[in-house]
Amino acid sequence: MSSQALINLAYLAASMLFIVAFKLMTGPRTAVRGNYLGAAGMVIAILAACCEGPVVARLTSVGSGNLVWLAIAAAIGSVIGAVMALKYPMTGMPQMVALLNGFGGAASAIVAGAELWNAASAAEVPLPAWTQFAIATAFTGLIGAVTLWGSFVAFAKLEELPRFKKAWTDPNRHWINLALAAATLLLIWGVCSHPSWILLYWLLVIVGSALGCTLTMPIGGADMPVVICLLNSYSGLAAAAAGFVIDNSVLVIAGSLVGASGLILTAIMCQAMNRSLTGVLFGGLGTTTAANADDVYAGKVKSASAEEIAMVLEGAERVVIVPGYGLAVAQAQHAVRELANALEKRGATVEYAIHPVAGRMPGHMNVLLAEADIPYEKLREMDDINPTFPETDVAIVIGANDVVNPAARTDPQSPIAGMPILDVDKAKTVVVVKRSLSPGFAGIPNPLFAADNTLMYFADGKKAILDLTAALQRG
Ligand code: NDP
Repeated sequence: MSSQALINLAYLAASMLFIVAFKLMTGPRTAVRGNYLGAAGMVIAILAACCEGPVVARLTSVGSGNLVWLAIAAAIGSVIGAVMALKYPMTGMPQMVALLNGFGGAASAIVAGAELWNAASAAEVPLPAWTQFAIATAFTGLIGAVTLWGSFVAFAKLEELPRFKKAWTDPNRHWINLALAAATLLLIWGVCSHPSWILLYWLLVIVGSALGCTLTMPIGGADMPVVICLLNSYSGLAAAAAGFVIDNSVLVIAGSLVGASGLILTAIMCQAMNRSLTGVLFGGLGTTTAANADDVYAGKVKSASAEEIAMVLEGAERVVIVPGYGLAVAQAQHAVRELANALEKRGATVEYAIHPVAGRMPGHMNVLLAEADIPYEKLREMDDINPTFPETDVAIVIGANDVVNPAARTDPQSPIAGMPILDVDKAKTVVVVKRSLSPGFAGIPNPLFAADNTLMYFADGKKAILDLTAALQRG
């Protein structure tokens, strides 16, 4: 068997591992195994790529001095990656994913640019127009640049950096986007018709970068989950396009898998939030106005102590725990399991209500609760658990805010209007654990906190739950 046949076989094995890994990652029980298989596929793909003729030729042509620099750069990158993976707090994962999406896009755009540079400088005549190489290069540059800068803006929004937290609502933004989109089309035409004019490629990257920013800046409110999924998909598409540039089948397959799965996740998120993709990307978010916090809360909020809440819990037969982003911040997942155990010992039924966009990344709450060994069968999805709230004695909301905000149902002017929420307000008693009346990610007040059947417990999530459990055990 020729060495190229062996390399192709390795690519096939890597691609199959990626597909099986994706399948395994759809279930919490098999997800970890899926992750390992995906990583194994990636190692095989990298090793096989390093043995490919053109790559070997390129590696030997750079000279041993440059090879040392290459190795040093790869080692530094690996160390940074490993430290980030180990050190980054769970609550910072979404930002990290946003950055990694962006770097994926940047890598693709740089690879395409370098290939174009090499091809143009090696050719004695201008490169032929409208070839696979030219078209794929143009698309890689554009998608890679949009992904990089869109991801940077998403990172800034998730970090809640002051300048980025508010959506950009300039009334001319659609015209600006349209002008940038028209410019990118013109530049794509330019790169495809005159691939040897390398400057056009970098101009396309610059205009694509601006478009990535202006497309992401207007998105605010609670719609970021859709954007994160979409950028993830773009990073895959950029990699697939780069695969066509360098004629590497495994890159095309892996990129397409990421692109397609990101698009599917985008559709799921849009559905979960009752939004259309065009509504999220081009809608007038930020032009809607939220109610004033003073009007919502003034004189209506009742706060309770751990002992008072424990007394309510003592009589409860059915308790639903609603985790949100604050649970992740407080790292209260283990304390929550202990509270559930204490309630179950007293004969209560305890379940967990999971909103698809609770936390800051898809599946955030599932991962947290799994960390505390909470059985998967107790986790109920929104559509499944919502009809049961009227029969629920106590709903305990821990660090969740937007995903339980009834304004989504009742206030058409609210930035989250139309987003399906967990109907905790329909439970007999609602206990909300958070540190203050400050808003969640969408930045709007929550009438749930002022409802007649709501008791607020103002404290850090972990401390509050530990105190509640202790009070319950004393009672
Ligand atoms: P929210 O962001 O709406 O609210 C979180 C609440 O947690 C805050 O009101 C905060 O109140 C409280 N909190 C923070 N720290 C603590 C702590 N240590 N102890 C107790 N409470 C704490 O969270 P939700 O999960 O309800 O909603 C998620 C939001 O994030 C949605 O708007 C969603 O669209 C958005 N989003 C989701 C993504 C996803 O993929 N899931 C991605 C990007 C955004 P206080 O400060 O008073 O304690």
